[in-house]
Amino acid sequence: MSDKFDVIVIGAGPAGYVAAIRAAQLGLKTACIDAFVGKDGKQALGGTCLNVGCIPSKALLDSSKQYYNLSHNLPAHGISVENAKMDMATFIGRKDKIVKQFTGGIGQLFKANKVTPFFGKGKLLGCKTGDSKNVEITSNGGSKQTISATNVILASGSVPIELPFAKFDNKFILDNAGALDISEVPQRLGVIGAGVIGLELGSVWNRLGSQVTILEALPDFLAVADQDVAKVAKKEFEKQGLTIKLSAKLTKAEVKTTSNKSSEVALTYEDKDGTHELTVDKLLVAVGRRAYTEGLLADDTGVKLDERGRIAVDEHNHTGVDGVWAIGDAVRGPMLAHKGSEEGVAVAEWIAGKAGHINLDTVPWVIYTEPEIAWAGKTEKELKDAGVPYKIGTFPFAAIGRAVAMNEAIGQVKVLAHAETDRLLGVHMVGPGVSELIAECVVAMEFKGSAEDLARIVHAHPTLSEAVHEAALSVDKRAIHKGN
Ligand code: FAD
Ligand code: NAD
Repeated sequence: MSDKFDVIVIGAGPAGYVAAIRAAQLGLKTACIDAFVGKDGKQALGGTCLNVGCIPSKALLDSSKQYYNLSHNLPAHGISVENAKMDMATFIGRKDKIVKQFTGGIGQLFKANKVTPFFGKGKLLGCKTGDSKNVEITSNGGSKQTISATNVILASGSVPIELPFAKFDNKFILDNAGALDISEVPQRLGVIGAGVIGLELGSVWNRLGSQVTILEALPDFLAVADQDVAKVAKKEFEKQGLTIKLSAKLTKAEVKTTSNKSSEVALTYEDKDGTHELTVDKLLVAVGRRAYTEGLLADDTGVKLDERGRIAVDEHNHTGVDGVWAIGDAVRGPMLAHKGSEEGVAVAEWIAGKAGHINLDTVPWVIYTEPEIAWAGKTEKELKDAGVPYKIGTFPFAAIGRAVAMNEAIGQVKVLAHAETDRLLGVHMVGPGVSELIAECVVAMEFKGSAEDLARIVHAHPTLSEAVHEAALSVDKRAIHKGN
């Protein structure tokens, strides 16, 4: 036994590394084990989010947006740029540099907070009530050591779901990591799944000139979002050149060598009109992610998985096994970085005997397309299905001076409030800057605010946030800058 800790965290993604830092801040002797290997072959802390998720995707989204704006937004401002080029090495290199900066930053935060990092695969060994928990660490080279702690936090994250007939090779059939590292713009990109990854990464490559076709199995576009928002978003994405086919089920994907010795992917899919063929140069499969627990638990830990293979936890992220907790993508709830991080903080505080807090009902969602999509709380459909009486207020960005000045006057804010109590039940937005606007609504919802509360708050003029204000006023048909 090399060392004894108060807390061992397995996984250093946004759930695990945040839990480790918060535990250390609270005076707990903390270790954090992670197995992720970066592009340079060294340990890269930060998990999916920092290495192959949130951060690199936003870097590419931002670069591609600047490029796209040159031809699609700047001319309206009277600015013309001829022969604009995208240097792919700089495009991908900038993303890699940002990833390295942030993954390295976690190492520095660990040092500053006295979290001890371990590089390797952690496995929780058999647990007995009251005993310390033992965790075996297997290094990349295969050597093993065991460390122990009073509490173990499992934060092993998630991995992309693979379709049996479209296995990832990350050359032609790509997962998220592969789609973030394409060195040449593919002429034709196929995307399976019109979910968050499909839309974000499909947008990146579409903006750079790929012909992007997205096949979505469900009949509804963005079924998780409010359908008024989804409708606006779909129309805009199609205007930008994305081809979105709904009720389309991929049945076959075959990598074929062409006559000029390059390769392409031949797809077969079915929709209501029958069977179709589609040939693309690369295929991104983004049909969801699953909790990753391979090699995490010895047979006799007592930790249970739920029906979807996630680590089963109660409302306090406790597994039911004394001293063993689980957080982030590996457990129920939305697979979002900020949700995992807040669970990490809450669990560290519960371990330290403090009043941790996490409210899964107000976790905001943001999709970083153009226009952006953001929401928190219930959709209109969810309220209808639950029989909750509600009122709606909406306001279009077309009537917001700041949005028009930016030449980005697309989309709307929709506020859903309880018909009798006026309490905010959901806010749904599509439009410019809504990734930031949603925060105000989350605060209001956390404070159990009403549409009237939002309506009475002074919002600066001219700002995009006036759309939130006006949508809240519109709940009681008193928006100023539109007919009610
Ligand atoms: P992960 O980030 O998956 O980290 C788990 C870590 O644990 C990994 O490093 C893994 O190697 C390690 N690990 C697993 N098992 C072991 C073991 N036994 N021993 C040691 N280490 C182990 N979310 C957002 O909120 N906003 C976004 O903009 C966003 N963009 C995304 C874009 C893409 C392309 C993808 C794929 C995801 C995106 N997400 C986004 C989702 C977000 O990345 C995840 O919700 C988040 O990373 C989950 O955090 P986590 O700590 O639970 O798991
Ligand atoms: P997703 O759940 O968002 O979307 C998957 C889509 O694929 C769904 O629309 C689903 O109906 C469809 N689908 C499933 N099987 C299919 C099939 N066989 N053929 C065609 N379509 C099929 O999953 P994702 O896009 O892979 O992303 C995974 C998760 O990562 C997200 O749910 C989210 O939690 C997280 N993420 C978040 C962000 C963000 O916050 N901005 C960005 C990227 C990823």
